Amino acid sequence: METKKFLLTEKDIPTHWYNIAADMKNKPALPLHPGTRQPLKAEDLGAIFALELSKQELNMTDRFIEIPEEVRDVYRNYRPTPLVRAYGLEKALDTPAHIYFKNESVSPVGSHKLNSAIAQAYYNKKQGITNITTETGAGQWGAAMAYACKFFGLELAVYMVKISYEQKPYRRSIMQSYGATVIASPSMSTRAGKNIITKNPNYQGSLGTAISEAIELATTTENCRYVLGSVLNHVSLHQTVIGEEARTQMEMAGEYPDIVIGCFGGGSNFSGLTFPFMRDTITKGTKTRFIAAEPASCPKLTRGQFLYDFGDEAGYTPLLHMYTLGHNFAPAHIHAGGLRYHGAGTIVSQLMNDKIMEATDIRQLESFDAALLFSKTEGIIPAPESSHAIAATIREALKCKEEGTKKTILFNLSGHGLIDMTAYDSFLAGDLKNYELSQEEIDKTLEEVKKMQ
Ligand SMILES: *Cc1c(COP(=O)(O)O)cnc(C)c1O
Repeated sequence: METKKFLLTEKDIPTHWYNIAADMKNKPALPLHPGTRQPLKAEDLGAIFALELSKQELNMTDRFIEIPEEVRDVYRNYRPTPLVRAYGLEKALDTPAHIYFKNESVSPVGSHKLNSAIAQAYYNKKQGITNITTETGAGQWGAAMAYACKFFGLELAVYMVKISYEQKPYRRSIMQSYGATVIASPSMSTRAGKNIITKNPNYQGSLGTAISEAIELATTTENCRYVLGSVLNHVSLHQTVIGEEARTQMEMAGEYPDIVIGCFGGGSNFSGLTFPFMRDTITKGTKTRFIAAEPASCPKLTRGQFLYDFGDEAGYTPLLHMYTLGHNFAPAHIHAGGLRYHGAGTIVSQLMNDKIMEATDIRQLESFDAALLFSKTEGIIPAPESSHAIAATIREALKCKEEGTKKTILFNLSGHGLIDMTAYDSFLAGDLKNYELSQEEIDKTLEEVKKMQ
C-alpha cells in the first residue's frame, strides 16, 4: 500500500523560522509613520508591539531566525503536523495530478494561527509584559491567542467583531475557557469604538474597528502590548514552520511541488507554507507556481492596488505598502470570516508585484462545493477559509486532467470547520449566495487611499 501520511517526530520540529525578506532582491517597504512619513524604527513599533517582535518585523538581513526552546516546547503539543496525500480527492476528480495537503487543522484550536500566537505570547512574556490586547473576526486568532496566553501566564483582552460575537458563540466560549476576556466590538470602552457607535448605533463591527479598539487599549494601559494574527512580517515569519516541515515531508514523499496553494486573508498561512519553497525560486530559479486563493468578495490581490494604506479603520497603525482595497472597504459577510480583510501585508505584496507569486479569486458557492467534495473524499470538514485553497487546487487538478499533465500540487489545510457548522447549515439549506462586487465600490474606498499617497 502506498503511503498516505508523511509524519515527522518531535525532534524534527524546525529549529529556525525562514525570513524571506533576507533573500528578496526588492525588499518590502518599511512601515511609515502616518504623520511624518518617516520609516519606523523598532523602538517606535515597540510602543505597540513587544520589542523582539518589532525587530523581527523590520529584519531584512537574517535568513534564519532561531525558534526559542520555550516556543518549540509548546509547539510539541501539536507539531509536527501531518502532510497527507489526498488520494480520495484525486480519485474523485479523476486527475493525473498528485495532490498533497499540509494539515494545520490538527492544532488544539483547529487552525495554523497557534504557530504565531505561541511565539508572540513568549516574546511579550520575556519582556515582562503582563497584559495583551488583540482583535478577532470569526474567533480563530482570539482562540489561538487565548491558548498561548494561558501557557505563558498573560492576561488577554479580545475585541471580537460584534456580528461574530453574536453569531459564533462557541468561539467566544473557547476563548473564555482559556481564561480570556472577550468584548464585542465596537464597544463603549474606547474612543474609537464610541466614535463609530455615535455615528452608526447599529454598526455590526469589522476587523478594522476591532484593531483600532485593541491598539487604543494597549497604548493606554500600563505594561500592555497589542498582538496581530496576520498581515505583519513577523507573523508570516513564525508561520514558516509549516513550510519548513512540508519541505522535509515532500522529500519523504519523493516529490517536489509544481504548484503550492494557500487561502489568503492577510497572508500568514499562505506565506507560512510557500516561503520555504519560494527560497528555491529566488535562490535557485526553481519554477514553482505559488497561488493565493482569495474570496471574490474581498479581492485585494486580484483587484486592489499597491499603495500605502492603514491596517485599521481608524488609522492608528503605521502606513503599510501593500495591495489594498482601502482601509474603509467593508467586505460582504461571507462565512470565511478570516479572509475578510482589506490589505495583504508588505512582503507578499512585493512578491506579488515582482510576479514571484500569483492570485486567484474564488466565489463563496465554489468554495463550499469544494469543501463538501473534500469532506466526502478526505473525511475532514475544512474551515470555510481553507476551502478557498481547496477550490483553487481542484481547478488546477482539473486543468491537469484536461491537458493530460501530471503535476504535483500542495495546498495548506489551514483549519477545520467543525466550529463553523452554521455556515455549512446555510449552504446545505441553499441559503448561501455569491456576492457581486462592482468596480465603483472598490474605486470609492481606494480614492481615499490615493489621496494619502
Ligand atoms: C485566519 C485564518 C485564515 C486567514 O488568515 P491568513 O493570515 O491569511 O492565513 C485562513 N484560514 C484559517 C483557518 C484561519 O483561521
